[in-house]
Amino acid sequence: MKNDCVFCAIAAGEIPCFKVYEDDIVLAYLDINPFTSGHTLVIPKGHFTGLLDTPPEVLKEVVVRVQKVAAHLKTALPCDGFNVLQNNGAAAGQTVPHLHFHIVPRNGAGEGGGISFAGRKGDMDSLKALAERIRM
Ligand code: 5GP
Ligand code: ZN
Repeated sequence: MKNDCVFCAIAAGEIPCFKVYEDDIVLAYLDINPFTSGHTLVIPKGHFTGLLDTPPEVLKEVVVRVQKVAAHLKTALPCDGFNVLQNNGAAAGQTVPHLHFHIVPRNGAGEGGGISFAGRKGDMDSLKALAERIRM
């Protein structure tokens, strides 16, 4: 647990939340500023900042819980679909530096507004050069 971390405080029960699911690995609760009705956050109980500093064995366990909670929301709400979002770093819009997955229920076409990363047609030569530069 990290002292100044709001999500650690929620996991420890020091700050209340509207709980959706809990087990030994994760806590899932409603986001206080929901994008859509049922917007749920899934966090590991341990403190990790984001995707890159979370040990793979923990991450696997958390992602399986994201699947479990999303499947539950789809029937319990219900919803037609959902987005899973996970922000890393302020540049990506992360405001709480404790790993969390957003599950954002969606209904119909575009309910709750689009998640807009406006794609533009890529230049094939640039894409090829970029892939060659960053290939692992
Ligand atoms: P981020 O932008 O870091 O991916 O998302 C953080 C999310 O946490 C935001 O959607 C915000 O509404 C939510 N949040 C921040 N503080 C609290 C809190 O104290 N309780 C709950 N339930 N959600 C919070
Ligand atoms: Zn934390």
